[in-house]
Amino acid sequence: MFENLSERLGGVFERLSRQGALNEADVITALREVRVALLEADVSLAVTRDFIKAVQKKATGQAVTKSVTPGQQVIKIVHDELVAMLQGEGPAERLKIDNPPAPILMVGLQGSGKTTTSGKLARRLKEREGKKVLLASLDTQRPAAMEQLAILATQIGVDSLPIVAGESAVQIAKRAKQQATLGGYDVYILDTAGRLQIDVALMEEVAQVSQIAQPRETLLVVDGLTGQVAVEVAQEFDAKVGITGVVLTRMDGDGRGGAALSMRAVTGKPIRFVGLGEKSEALEVFDAERVAGRILG
Ligand code: GDP
Repeated sequence: MFENLSERLGGVFERLSRQGALNEADVITALREVRVALLEADVSLAVTRDFIKAVQKKATGQAVTKSVTPGQQVIKIVHDELVAMLQGEGPAERLKIDNPPAPILMVGLQGSGKTTTSGKLARRLKEREGKKVLLASLDTQRPAAMEQLAILATQIGVDSLPIVAGESAVQIAKRAKQQATLGGYDVYILDTAGRLQIDVALMEEVAQVSQIAQPRETLLVVDGLTGQVAVEVAQEFDAKVGITGVVLTRMDGDGRGGAALSMRAVTGKPIRFVGLGEKSEALEVFDAERVAGRILG
């Protein structure tokens, strides 16, 4: 995922480390290359600019240029700023799913990987946290999507809400809540309908469901390969329905990584998980330290 960026930055820092002493001009030259590498990775211009400014401020101080290993110092500063950019201020946040039954609303465009991710999340909560999970598809437009979720549920060994033809999304959300309460579930995951693009009808439906379900978490699923578009989709969903976090899918692909790098800074919302494949176990908690480490090699 971050191969290109990692390679580019590796080259810049290798040159920097080889020099014994550094002056401010060396640092500025290196940061110019870092800037190009970030832009090539599809990180937004504003985020790149802020990032470079923050690193420059810390890296051109006396302490760095006078240090015995100035190149390493600069790399450390870049690492720390990458972590800050990826996760914002606080530490990684956990899902708020205490007080059963906790509703989790999954939203996103069609094809983003929403249904697959609902299954992955259910599996994770069941296996790692021992939660009793109910999956419910609210995709009244596409019976095939409902079937897909039911099949996934069977495969991973969790329950799914029985499909009743003719119900609206809101009716299904109400029934899911009832069943989750009566059945003693810890969590119920509502997989909402997606559209190929954001439209008024989609947002209306998601807003209505959200109103009824009062979700503890509203997770937006976006395709990480779409770069800055993924970030724009997140901004729109957040403005219209409010999201508590993001899941970036297809991070196993060869995208340039810009979505991961810009998401937090632009939307203020944390990336909670990344999807790393089609299988139901291919979901990882997003860990800014690890990602920064991966980028810097
Ligand atoms: P939905 O329309 O948003 O519910 O999307 P789906 O869950 O049906 O996923 C669309 C396609 O993307 C399916 O073929 C999934 O197997 C695939 N997919 C989902 N997540 C990932 C991922 O993290 N990596 C890869 N490579 N494929 C994924």
